[in-house]
Amino acid sequence: MKIEKMSDWEFGFPNDGPIIISGPCSAESYDQLLFSCTGVANQGAHILRAGIWKPRTRPNSFEGIGEKALPWLKEAGRITRLPVIIEVATPWHIEAALNHDIDMLWIGTRTTVSPFAMQEIAQVLSGTNIPVFVKNPINPDVNLWLGAIERLSLAGLKQLVAIHRGFNVPDSSPYRNLPMWEIPLRLKEIIPEIELICDPSHICGSRSLLMEVSKKALELGYKGLMIESHIQPEIALSDPSQQVTPEVLGEMINALSPSFSLHYQD
Ligand code: PEP
Ligand code: MN
Repeated sequence: MKIEKMSDWEFGFPNDGPIIISGPCSAESYDQLLFSCTGVANQGAHILRAGIWKPRTRPNSFEGIGEKALPWLKEAGRITRLPVIIEVATPWHIEAALNHDIDMLWIGTRTTVSPFAMQEIAQVLSGTNIPVFVKNPINPDVNLWLGAIERLSLAGLKQLVAIHRGFNVPDSSPYRNLPMWEIPLRLKEIIPEIELICDPSHICGSRSLLMEVSKKALELGYKGLMIESHIQPEIALSDPSQQVTPEVLGEMINALSPSFSLHYQD
């Protein structure tokens, strides 16, 4: 299955396996982005991801390379013939993304949590039909997640997907963010038509747990995985301990393929 530009993709998820969204946590340089994206495309990724504006907990750490990476990402999409997705958090981010014809957007966990931010985002997106993937709020509150999705839906957006990336709770060990699988399942009960994607990278925080969490998500019927992959994870400017090389991504996809078939027909 190959997804061409999003406008060609009749929205909905294919029946022959989960969607793999992959690429680096952050775009860092033209070469790093292009090598990482072509690497994951060669391993079977369907959608390319990269953070351009990074929500860092404290100032003066790497806050993303900004707008200048947008043409780089489109170039990666052109070379691989895959759609590209970035995180947006402000109306200005959205304007820049739309001006550069970015195919899809995701809302980060620290934005989903804010009804004011979500209302502004919904207003700016109104009139577009761009696919928007909404990560769960950082705290375990299904209503905030639901509210963010509802605001987008009320603005007329129809191509909405939920991403489960775990919850920031006092005791999340051994994970970076506790999965609390019952919360996304509750969301799915409330909005049965929403598809769930799992982001094991931000749940785990470390490479060693990725397989187990990815497998669990596929067994629960998730329609895809968003996995961070960097050409040189150990020197990544953000999230170095949870990113995998494109080769390791390929090994993961192969090892997970028995779980792929659980909920899909041939
Ligand atoms: C990311 O995907 O790189 C990211 C910052 O995600 P989250 O909003 O889940 O922390
Ligand atoms: Mn990250």
